[in-house]
Amino acid sequence: MSCGRVIEDNYNFSCSCRNPSFLRTNYSKTKFNPTNENTLWRFKNWLPVNNPPTKSDDGKTVVYKSKGLCKELGLKQLYIAFNGYWPEKEAKIFTGTFKGLEAPPTIIRAKEKGIKEILIATAGNTGRAFAEATVNHNFDIVIVAPQSARNRLWTVGDISENSVKLITMKSGNDYTDAINLGAKISDELGVETEGGAKNVARRDGMGTCFLEGINVIGEIPRHYFQAIGSGTGGIAAWEAAKRVITDGRFGKNLPVLHLSQNKRFAPMVTAWTNRRDKIIEEDLSLPSKDMVTLFAEVLANRTPPYSISGGVYDALSETNGNMYSVSEVEAQSAMKLMADTEEIDIIPPAAIAIASLIQAVDCKNINSNETILLNITGGGHKRLNENFDLKPIQPILEVPDSNFSSEKIQEALN
Ligand SMILES: *Cc1c(COP(=O)(O)O)cnc(C)c1O
Repeated sequence: MSCGRVIEDNYNFSCSCRNPSFLRTNYSKTKFNPTNENTLWRFKNWLPVNNPPTKSDDGKTVVYKSKGLCKELGLKQLYIAFNGYWPEKEAKIFTGTFKGLEAPPTIIRAKEKGIKEILIATAGNTGRAFAEATVNHNFDIVIVAPQSARNRLWTVGDISENSVKLITMKSGNDYTDAINLGAKISDELGVETEGGAKNVARRDGMGTCFLEGINVIGEIPRHYFQAIGSGTGGIAAWEAAKRVITDGRFGKNLPVLHLSQNKRFAPMVTAWTNRRDKIIEEDLSLPSKDMVTLFAEVLANRTPPYSISGGVYDALSETNGNMYSVSEVEAQSAMKLMADTEEIDIIPPAAIAIASLIQAVDCKNINSNETILLNITGGGHKRLNENFDLKPIQPILEVPDSNFSSEKIQEALN
């Protein structure tokens, strides 16, 4: 783990030492050796499950060398890591975001540890990915979400009865309120949580996006771009790179992390820009009720794992990283640029990442001939809508705030 101790995997999320730190996996196989499977399980050697599925509909990241966007930005080696649905490119994450890389390993790890049900607090994309994964991997979940997440909570497959229990919170509550309510339900009713960034299955699952990048590029890219809310994806890329550096054949340098947020709510950008290892009250001045008005609302996390040992601050420090804040105007034009040059629809967080790449080019944070991996964290939703009947997840209960009585929630869950 990031504090230096070594422990056996018992579905732990933290270590017993006093300093908060992330657990990290240590795999017995140290060679980067993807199989030829067409799912994220091609990286099973570096996923924390004992019995990976041999057949599944779990998608994977599709990485390709950009032609259009590349030219527009004057870059020579821009690779796009596409996470979503784009049948012509064999991109088949049916819930349309890279949360689809986290949910299957997390559920299988939990099942292998004897856990029957887990709770997920979500701004929408994580809940949707986990709900879809219950269809493929036969598992039960409880989802806690703000009202604004409702339109993001649907599945492509048919969820079985009672396997997905959705609790929504009245409008005025944001994602962080859902996190707080989830923690309370977990404490008081004893439902296991998925652990968020602390769960190694989530980080190593997300890390497969970066691994796919290395697989296609043939080496560790010099730069990695991603929009972040918690920063889990950035941490996962950093951890994946370290693993591949140990192999030795794909380069010795960590990628520079370029992480981005909405300009109006950018706690990690302000903390990092001021070289603080802590987020302070001032960074969080946007009121909860205004979170829904952000361009990429799913990035609005007030309690990201920034300061924790092995978290975002450490990842940025070790990789000499940069953070960018992106205005709505910049993001809108990035979204249009992507549609025009690469001919696929993307969702708002992905547009934030592209806008940050444009900023990085403008301020010469990157050289035009360096390898760049741009994480398109979600896209192809128009295509999903055309090709599938997307089924909304119906709530079993709506609660006014995070102080709502646990007994009443228990009744609804039974
Ligand atoms: C969750 C999410 C992000 C942010 O990812 P983190 O690395 O967890 O901060 C970005 N884009 C999309 C589409 C997401 O669903």
